[in-house]
This record gives sequence, structure tokens and C-alpha cells, in this order.
Amino acid sequence: MNGKIENMANRSNKKVVIIGAGLGGISTALRLSKIGYKVSILEKNESLGGKITSFKSKGYKFDQGPSLITLPKHFEELFDDIDENINDHLELIKLNPMCRYFFEDGSKIDYFSSLDLMKKELDKIGEDFENFYNFLSIGSKIYELSEKTFLNFPVGKFPSNIKLNNLIKFPYLKSIRSYQSLVDKTFSTKKFKQIFERYPTYVGSSPSNTPGMFFIIPYIEYAFGSWYIKGGIYKLIESLEKLLIKNNVKIIKNCTVEKIEISNNEVAGVKTSSGHIDAKIIINNTDVSNLDDFKNKHSNQNIDNFSLSGFVIMLGLKKKINLKHHNIIFSSDYKKEFNDLFKRKTFPDDPTIYVCNSTYTDKSVAPENCSNLFIMANSPATHRAWTNDDTEYAKKKIFKNLQKININIEKSIIEVEKIQTPTYFMSQHNSFGGSLYGKNSHGIINSFLRHPNKEKIKGLYNVGGTTHPGGGTPTVIKSSKITTNMIKNDY
Ligand SMILES: Cc1cc2nc3c(=O)[nH]c(=O)nc-3n(C[C@H](O)[C@H](O)[C@H](O)COP(=O)(O)OP(=O)(O)OC[C@H]3O[C@@H](n4cnc5c(N)ncnc54)[C@H](O)[C@@H]3O)c2cc1C
Repeated sequence: MNGKIENMANRSNKKVVIIGAGLGGISTALRLSKIGYKVSILEKNESLGGKITSFKSKGYKFDQGPSLITLPKHFEELFDDIDENINDHLELIKLNPMCRYFFEDGSKIDYFSSLDLMKKELDKIGEDFENFYNFLSIGSKIYELSEKTFLNFPVGKFPSNIKLNNLIKFPYLKSIRSYQSLVDKTFSTKKFKQIFERYPTYVGSSPSNTPGMFFIIPYIEYAFGSWYIKGGIYKLIESLEKLLIKNNVKIIKNCTVEKIEISNNEVAGVKTSSGHIDAKIIINNTDVSNLDDFKNKHSNQNIDNFSLSGFVIMLGLKKKINLKHHNIIFSSDYKKEFNDLFKRKTFPDDPTIYVCNSTYTDKSVAPENCSNLFIMANSPATHRAWTNDDTEYAKKKIFKNLQKININIEKSIIEVEKIQTPTYFMSQHNSFGGSLYGKNSHGIINSFLRHPNKEKIKGLYNVGGTTHPGGGTPTVIKSSKITTNMIKNDY
């Protein structure tokens, strides 16, 4: 205990500046302040949370970013690390079914988190239960290996009990070079293949280019559940902001970092829109593609290497819409859709649509007998600014595909409408071409050698979805743990 106090006293002299108050920046600020570092967090926007953001209008509440939480244990661990109990702050609700899928032929499947109900759905479409079991079996092996290596350690640093030889001997390594071929081998029906081929797009990537290791995404969702936070996902940020204040983190909003000042290959401070701040330890939580700008270096990033962006419409409707919490309406030609997204680099002619209808679970997010729909379709990242015509085109395509499942969005029922295009994501979050997950996960290098958490410049670290181990809320919290441990070791 004495040692702990002594350490904290030493660390209280150590000033840390965090650029960006996304989930990664906030989690790291909390973990470092709890062990004695003096942390300031600088955020260009007027509210915290980055991609996790929300808005309210006319009694409707919308999450504008994430709507699905997986791996709640990483959220619990974050609260534990700062001596708090997550249940005192948030109410997590497990969703069952996790999703309703709508197919071109008019049929639908409820994707249940319980195996007995799931078996009935599999039987309905003629998919073998054994195939689903095989997916869980392969997924669990990939998950176990990732937990022992990739997810919990800095890039390329594995614990001493894991030998390279063991990794090479990993039973599925050869067979899982391509995610798509693994899906193809595992399932027999077109419908299940379609459901599974969608998962790599959760990290903005194509199923034909990502390695089979990405079976970890559907496995994690199935094994550990799909969760919602009562009151909306933004409740997470609201509760963490209170804890930042409780832990004496200095929060500076509306403050844009323009440069990282470097002297003798060591950080010295940051130049911001509100002046200069000294710091020997700086953590970048913004898209790592901003680092070149911050360091005054010419950037030669190629947009083709970046993950997808999205097109989002949020609608407050004076009507109860008959949908589950999460819904996916598949396009009629999935191959053509992927071709539009990843080869032609254009908004799809026939997009697959994701609809979140959180009023299904939570009555508090819309007026009585009304619905708050968050509707999203994938779209390529781009530096070209979206025009009104682009927006109208995408909106028309989405409304047309909603009609396929008898959802007619007449003007008379729309009380609130808000749209987010790739241009919005680019300016609001300062992300490269509006891409939502940084570099895509195409090929082994992009997938497993993500941008490191520590730069070669002394005192400069990264955290968040564009850095190791990758995007998505639980992985970002993991990234925060890795970066925190590195700083703890270095200072
Ligand atoms: C529409 C959408 C849907 C998603 N759905 C899901 C989902 O269902 N489940 C899930 O787990 N994940 C989802 N994600 C991904 C998830 O939201 C992100 O991976 C995660 O929130 C990223 O956190 P981060 O710490 O990397 O930082 P970010 O959220 O990217 O935050 C970075 C912060 O840095 C600030 N900043 C940038 N430049 C500067 C500067 N120069 N000076 C100061 N501040 C700056 C930004 O304003 C921002 O606040 C979704 C994302 C989006 C956009």
C-alpha cells in the first residue's frame, strides 16, 4: 500500500495531455488519473464522446453512432479499474433476439441468443444446426487465441508462454485465410452465408478481403450477447464524464489541437486553438491519419486503404413501427452491393439497410406510440464532399428498400429528420474521408499490424479505434488498457 501511495505521489507530477475525448481518450484519462497522473483532455467539439454522440428533439432521443454493445466485460473492467461498479451507473440490457433479418424473398429470421430458439430458426430455412455449432467451435478457438495474444498486448508483443511455433500450429490458420471462404465452408444456405458475410462490414471491410480470423466478430456477439444501455448508448459517455470530473481530469471542450510540438525527438507540448499547453506525455485519440498533420509532415495516405463510411438517416415518426430493436434488410444482390462499395467505390444501387428501433426495448427514447429510427447503409469513405443530390439519391434508395418490408415513410408521419453523410463523419470526427474504423482490415498486415499504441517519438502514444487492436467500442476500451499499461511502464 505504501508503495502505491509513493507511486501515486511520483506520478502526480506527470502531466498527460490527451487529444480527443472519444471513448478511447476518456477511458485512458480515467485509468491514468486513477493511478495519479495529472490528465487534461482536449476536445474540438462542444460535447464529449466522439463517434458516440446523441441528440434530442421533440421528445425523441437518438444515438448518432454506436447502437450495439458487445463484450460488456470490457466495460465492467473499465469501471473496476477506477474503483467503480458499472451497475451503479448504467443499466445494461441483453437483447433477444439480437437481430431480425429480412430477405429478398419476403422471409425473415430472428437471430436468437439462445440455442434452443436459434435451432428453430435454422430449421425454418434448412440450415444444419451442426454448421452453426461448427461456427461456434471455430469462433471460440479464434477468440481464445486472440485473448492470449492480439487483444491484450501491444502490437507484436506476446506473453512469454505463447511461442511463435504455437501460433503457426494454430489448427485453423491455413483454412481461414479468407473470411468469405470460411463462411462458405461452414454454412450451406444462401441466407446464412448472407448473414455472416455482413459481419466484416461492422469494421468497414469486405468479407472477401478480410482473413477468416474475423469469425471472432459473430462469435463474440453470439457468445457474449448483444447489449443496449437503458436511456441510450450515450448514457455511457454521460456517466464517464461525471467520473472524469470526480477523478479531477481537466476537460477542455471546443479546443482543437493544431500541432504536436516536438524537440529532440521528444514531445514538448501541443499548440491548440486556445493556446499552447506543455506536456511530456501526449496521447492522440484522434484518427491516427491526423498524426502527419500534427507533426507538420506531408501525408501520403491512400483512401483505398480505408474502411467504409456510412450514410445515416434518423427519423422521429408519429407512428409505432413494427420492427425489433436491431433489423437488417438485405439487398437483392449482395455481390453487386459489395462490388459497388469496394470496387466501384460508390453508394450502392441496392443497399442493405440496418435499422435500429430502440423504442422496442426502451419507451423513454420517443413519445408514446412513436418511433425513433436510426437507419444506416454502408458507403465508401471519400474526400469528395457529398452534394444534396447525393443525399437525395441515397435517401430514395433507402426508402425504396424499406417499402420492401412494408415500411412506408410518408412525409406526414416524420416529426424529426437528421442526416449524416461521409462528409459529416469527416468534419465532425476528423476521420480520414469519413471512414469509421481507420484503415480497413484487408489482408493479414492491415488486420493484425494495426497502428501501434506508441510512436517512435518519446512521450507520444495513441489510443482508439484507428490504432491497435482496432475499432468498435469494446476493442477501443482494450486499446485504452494497453496504452495505459505502456505509459505506466515508461513513466
Ligand atoms: C455511425 C456509427 C456506428 C457505429 N456502430 C457501432 C456499434 O454498433 N458498436 C460498436 O461497438 N462500435 C460502433 N461504432 C464504432 C465506435 O463508435 C468507435 O469505434 C469508437 O467510438 C471510437 O472511439 P475512439 O476512442 O477511437 O474515438 P473517436 O470517437 O473517433 O473520437 C475521437 C475524438 O477526437 C476529437 N478530435 C479529432 N481531432 C481533434 C483535434 N485536432 N483536436 C481535438 N480533438 C479532436 C473528435 O472530435 C472526437 O471526439 C460506430 C461508429 C459510427 C460512427
